[in-house]
Amino acid sequence: MYAPLPTAERRAQSRPRSLPLRGLFGLTEDDRDQVSDLLVAKLAQVAAVWPFTLAIQVVACALLFALAAVDVTRVPGRIGGIAIHAGVLAIGSLLVFATVRLPAFGALAAHKRNQIVTLCAAALAATLTSLLWAITSAPDGPVQFASAIAVGGVLGITALSLHPIRAAALGFSAALVATLAILAGPCIPVAIALVFLGCLVAAIISLARIDHALELDRATASIEGRIAVKMIAEFEDHGAGWFWEADRQGRVTYLSAKVAHDLAPGGSAVGRSLPELFRMDNDAPGTERTLAFHISSRTSFADYSVCAAAAPDSERWWSISGRPVVDDLGRFQGFIGSGSDLTEKRKSEAEITRLALFDGLTGLANRQRMRVSLDKTLAQNTGPYRATSLFLMDLDRFKAVNDTLGHQAGDTLLQQVAQRLQRGVGDAGLVGRLGGDEFKVVLPGIDNRDTLAALARDLIASLSQPYFISGTAVTIGCSIGVAIAPDDGATSETLVRNADLALYAAKGDGRGVHRFFSDDMLAGARTRKLLEDDLRVAVTEGAFHLCYQPVVSTKTVRIVGYEALIRWNHPTRGLVSPADFIPVAEECGLIEAIGEWVLRTACIEAARWPDTIRVAVNVSPIQFANPVLPALVTSALAQSGIAPGRLELEITEGVFLDETRSSEQMFKALKGLGVRLALDDFGTGYSSLGYLRNAPFDKIKIDQSFVKGAAEPGNRNAAIIKAIVTLADTLGMETTAEGVEIQDEIDLLRNLGCTHIQGYVYGRPIRAEEALVQLGLENGTATASGFKVSRAPRTKMLRSARILIGGVRGDVRIRDISTSGAMLDGLRIDGNPDGVELQIELLEDQMIPARVRWARDGKAGIEFHEAFNLERLNQGQASRIRRVG
Ligand code: C2E
Ligand code: MG
Ligand code: MG
Repeated sequence: MYAPLPTAERRAQSRPRSLPLRGLFGLTEDDRDQVSDLLVAKLAQVAAVWPFTLAIQVVACALLFALAAVDVTRVPGRIGGIAIHAGVLAIGSLLVFATVRLPAFGALAAHKRNQIVTLCAAALAATLTSLLWAITSAPDGPVQFASAIAVGGVLGITALSLHPIRAAALGFSAALVATLAILAGPCIPVAIALVFLGCLVAAIISLARIDHALELDRATASIEGRIAVKMIAEFEDHGAGWFWEADRQGRVTYLSAKVAHDLAPGGSAVGRSLPELFRMDNDAPGTERTLAFHISSRTSFADYSVCAAAAPDSERWWSISGRPVVDDLGRFQGFIGSGSDLTEKRKSEAEITRLALFDGLTGLANRQRMRVSLDKTLAQNTGPYRATSLFLMDLDRFKAVNDTLGHQAGDTLLQQVAQRLQRGVGDAGLVGRLGGDEFKVVLPGIDNRDTLAALARDLIASLSQPYFISGTAVTIGCSIGVAIAPDDGATSETLVRNADLALYAAKGDGRGVHRFFSDDMLAGARTRKLLEDDLRVAVTEGAFHLCYQPVVSTKTVRIVGYEALIRWNHPTRGLVSPADFIPVAEECGLIEAIGEWVLRTACIEAARWPDTIRVAVNVSPIQFANPVLPALVTSALAQSGIAPGRLELEITEGVFLDETRSSEQMFKALKGLGVRLALDDFGTGYSSLGYLRNAPFDKIKIDQSFVKGAAEPGNRNAAIIKAIVTLADTLGMETTAEGVEIQDEIDLLRNLGCTHIQGYVYGRPIRAEEALVQLGLENGTATASGFKVSRAPRTKMLRSARILIGGVRGDVRIRDISTSGAMLDGLRIDGNPDGVELQIELLEDQMIPARVRWARDGKAGIEFHEAFNLERLNQGQASRIRRVG
């Protein structure tokens, strides 16, 4: 609360003009300073007036002396005349001094003051001299004097309207001059007295005018002052601003009440120094010096952010500005300034900062903050060595949760994930969310691979525990890519890129695992880039062709249709598997163009087949998400002229990872065209069956991983196939078993209720013309070929391996493996492949000898020289293998 100063004290501090003589002794040093300042100012004023005034007075008195000396016969003695004149001089001087002390006098310009003082002094001296001269020399003086006083009184009363004292002086003087004129008659002294009287009148009129102007000024100033005080009070009470004033030592002499209350709760802010009351926010922009510095250096400051020094934890913040105040003579008087409340502004700034640096949903650091933090941490590495590790994390199956349970559940899940991550990482690093289901962890000072691997495993385990969201238990997974600075990158760009590559590898290795960045990942990425470049060229040059694999009815054993499968025969790479280039085409946006070409070509080529034969075309989830797909299908049908019912679109479960609403509309639109829809690779991707309720599929294609080995005794795949077939039957859908290679699987599948079979057992993918020929043979009846009985059980693998063949090293992909052999992708052998010797690196640094049994379309079957114990694979690299059979 503001404690007002006693009025007298405030006036003394705010307007220290008068000279407090009584305080000259026993005053403080500051007061003494003020007193000495005032004395100097006064002396300067007087000095500006006196010399000139004295000169005039001396001249005037000398003239009078001369007059007195001339008419000395009428003066009682020369000595008496001189004494009279000397007395007059003294009185005149005193009057001048008194005039100088008039308050209004100080406001006048120096030359005006001189004129007035001179006139006053000369006129008074002259009139008094003449009066005394006349009184002492005339016999009937008293009578005449009395009548003159009466005349003067009348004049004086008339002049009262000007100023009482001046009017009295004027009247009195006029009366005396009149008396002199009557007594002395026309003579030189009377003329002089009249002249001086005229001067006196002029001076008094002039003074009156000045007084009037000053009075007007004062009245205006006082009105303005009152308004200003009112407005300041209003501003202080209701506005955000306040004022302060400090003395030369920076001690507060005035402070608006509301701020005073916050600064000195229960005490008084007055008398305390600014730095004692305010604590500065040194981090605020534009804050260069301390308040103490400005006070001692007497310099102004602006917009400093301060809070109450007494309550540093308070949320109240102000902006304070101040400037030094100097008096007319340029002497420093103290400080005056203003302030405004910054609390709300700082709160909204803090909110903006929070929004700019933190993820709104989870409260974790956002992408921007993570980037800055990583940059900072890496910058520290230039000093004493400090390693930094980076985790890039991606949730597995998060989109499924979003789609099935809704976005709100997805949000809740992300919040819970964030909490588990925070808990898991603790103080070891900074956790952030990059957006969607991507998270990042910066771990300064950790580069031990074992520690990092343990942390990654813990995080994956923790995130894979069930979440309970609105009464439903939800389980997701998590893949982590790890990069360690400076080995894996000294800049944030490189480190993030490499962690991203490691994450890509983790996902490629079956998800739910962590991978450390290694140089071959970068090489893999470069290879992908090269493949992408080649793919672009292939698209523009039309380097693809289609092959068709027969789909056979289990009931009639006749070909009912063909699946169109794209083939790319690269001039140097050879035949590139669609399993390799389709994902790249999807990543780089070429799939739209490729997909359109496949659709149009398949329809045109199928148009040459009998009307009963269908054609199945694979549609990528990216194509499926594009609303132009129905128009494209319509156009392809129209262009080729085939009936919509002959076209079957194969869609993988991947489409359900997208927005449910839009996929629903797409299903509707496609069904509206009359085309058939098949669910490809059923059971390999998406874990929820919920989508089958609404998606209008005509067929489910059971993935070959369920078919392989189904005919072997004790294999549980048959049970799974049975379940799928039952499900499809119930929903009124057909079933195609994919990848059937063994003849005894045909009967099994027929017995299990599968309606169709597709696989090498009935034929490999062939050209459209060959298909036409095939359809003509035996009226389209399919002939089974290949192994009659199942081989050793095979394990499906998703990994690449080095091979050594004829002294040349190369990379292949292992599709499946058994104790006796393996199926490879990406192996081309010129000439007869059968019996070609090779070595394959199944275990790290262990080349296993094998021979090629067959090779076709970039695929090859190899046979190990010795039976290979699959357990060895599991021991070393269990996480790299996905067992499906
Ligand atoms: P998919 O649609 O499941 O196609 C079946 C894949 O299994 C084909 O591989 C086919 O050659 C292979 N296959 C058929 N029978 C057997 C068998 O008995 N044993 C074995 N081991 N494999 C068999 P392909 O042609 O390499 O295609 C691989 C995948 O690439 C396809 O799987 C499909 O997802 C994709 N794909 C192929 N052509 C296209 C296309 O035109 N567009 C799109 N979007 N994807 C395509
Ligand atoms: Mg397919
Ligand atoms: Mg398939």
